[in-house]
Amino acid sequence: MNQHQNRVAILSSHISPPVMASEKEAALAATPSDDSPTIFDKIISKDIPSTVVFEDDKVLAFRDITPQGPVHILLIPKVRDGLTGLSKAEERHIDILGRLLYTAKLVAKQEGLDEGFRIVINDGPQGCQSVYHIHVHLIGGRQMNWPPG
Ligand code: 5GP
Repeated sequence: MNQHQNRVAILSSHISPPVMASEKEAALAATPSDDSPTIFDKIISKDIPSTVVFEDDKVLAFRDITPQGPVHILLIPKVRDGLTGLSKAEERHIDILGRLLYTAKLVAKQEGLDEGFRIVINDGPQGCQSVYHIHVHLIGGRQMNWPPG
């Protein structure tokens, strides 16, 4: 994939389903970075609209633009603080990591996912991570399968 194709894959992952690159293509096109802003900064600042389902001073939870189930919510820290992905976690991040998971449980309850749900944190190219601002996927409302793809 050349640089132009990379850009198209990244951009199309933020446009509409008919031209959407697969999540895997978007992940492989993404550049793991420690400091570049991501699309999630614009979602936090509300420069890009999203459907927010939970918000407090530390965490924002909003519906994924490409839902993989009847419920698909992303939970992110409002301040990235170097947490581009889970593999970059340091001891100072323990509180926010716990808060993200606990908030996922609260949102699952709020969404009525009483029969269960799936939590996913993709990390790095092989983990299919496409946005380098740590995020917890909360997916539910359908029967999950195992193993994941
Ligand atoms: P990752 O592949 O990095 O684990 O997950 C990134 C997620 O962000 C994907 O599921 C993708 O659909 C979602 N996403 C990317 N851009 C946007 C956006 O602009 N709005 C929303 N709501 N979700 C987005």
